[in-house]
Amino acid sequence: MSRTSTDLPAWKRLYPDASDEQWNDWRWQARNLVRSLPELEEKLKLTEDERRGCVDTAGIFRLGISPYYLSLIDPEHPSCPVRQQAIPVQAEARVRPGELRDPLGEDHNRPVRGIVHKYPDRVLLLALDRCSTYCRHCTRRRITSGGEGDFNRDELQRAVDYVALHSEVRDVLISGGDPFLFTTAKLAELLAMLRAIPHVEIIRIGTRVPVTLPMRVDDELARMLRSFAPLFVITHFNHAKEITQDARVAVETLVDRGVPVENQAVLMRGVNSSLIAIKDLMHQCLTMRARPYYLHQMDVAQGLEHLRTPLEFGVELLRGLRGHTSGLAVPHLAIDLPDGGGKVTIQPDYVVEKRDTETILRNYRGEHYSYPEPEEKECAVAYDAIWYPDGRVEHRPANPSALDVPIPSDAASAIATRESADDATASAHSLTRLNVLAGG
Ligand code: SF4
Repeated sequence: MSRTSTDLPAWKRLYPDASDEQWNDWRWQARNLVRSLPELEEKLKLTEDERRGCVDTAGIFRLGISPYYLSLIDPEHPSCPVRQQAIPVQAEARVRPGELRDPLGEDHNRPVRGIVHKYPDRVLLLALDRCSTYCRHCTRRRITSGGEGDFNRDELQRAVDYVALHSEVRDVLISGGDPFLFTTAKLAELLAMLRAIPHVEIIRIGTRVPVTLPMRVDDELARMLRSFAPLFVITHFNHAKEITQDARVAVETLVDRGVPVENQAVLMRGVNSSLIAIKDLMHQCLTMRARPYYLHQMDVAQGLEHLRTPLEFGVELLRGLRGHTSGLAVPHLAIDLPDGGGKVTIQPDYVVEKRDTETILRNYRGEHYSYPEPEEKECAVAYDAIWYPDGRVEHRPANPSALDVPIPSDAASAIATRESADDATASAHSLTRLNVLAGG
């Protein structure tokens, strides 16, 4: 599929001196981020709330909008969802009681600067502190504000060394910051180091580049990523307005080359907090083969109260999706619990009544149905084992407590007991306590 700019009627008006070649060059885009109030006012007539928001948040969080993302903004409507995600308002500078600088409790789970190790078998590798556009809803702004400084080569090496030393880590999520801002060669170097670690099975990359800088995704990048499979790209479309022809080309370039793409959206009050907006987003994601993965409840982060929705609202949205559209379009509604409690997923309660012999359930139309219980209730699997790709087979004890995950051997101090609901099997494990590394 070829890339065209015909879907971007605004960009030539905003950047009359830019050539087509420059516009489609991600490095030109990155060099020309709109970073200050005067630059922004040259391009757009701001509301008083936005103008003051830029001033009030100046020392708190970076302002930075790629020319491409800026061109998606409706210049006439302050409620444009792209505009609200890119331009600060005064409310962002207000910190309410209970709001946290580190809402996911990552900092006390950082054994080395570039690693967050909160869950038993996976880590977050923080690779850089820069993004192609700074989202006003960013809850990792303590890092992406530049306050900590970028991650140097030694720190990245220490992060990789940590993963190599921890054989329980089978899944590495690379984020930051946006890893797609690395050159393809540098990202390949990091991926090669991780792929050389035998116990790393899965690599994931969290990126908003397909949304805010889609011209960065080219054939070379996609082929390089494919060579490190199994590797998943987790992107972050929050509104169907962001799914332009350029964004589609970016996502489809990845998928066509064999790189699966999943989407994590954040539910934001007044931005995408409607059934129409969320359903449209999920449908549009599927049409470009980005699988809807999570719909995140907004974290309890400093300055973001104005974007938070009541918990029940998200549940109602899911009620409006489940059964009313295909299951592929229904994401997990996730809450990342404050203070490092980990993710839990919630959904509408369809159980009306539980009896010994049956459960009465409500379907999406509100009708009641009975699901009869089987007579035999023992569920142990006699042939239970883990089958590794290299042919090894690890037989597991029949005891259901085998679901418990071992504590990393060098857990330094506090061990927190939490429930994890990080994946689709979470509900089946809901009675299983996972011991999670909480120090280091
Ligand atoms: S791209 Fe991600 S890390 Fe960067 S500002 Fe946006 S939400 Fe934060």
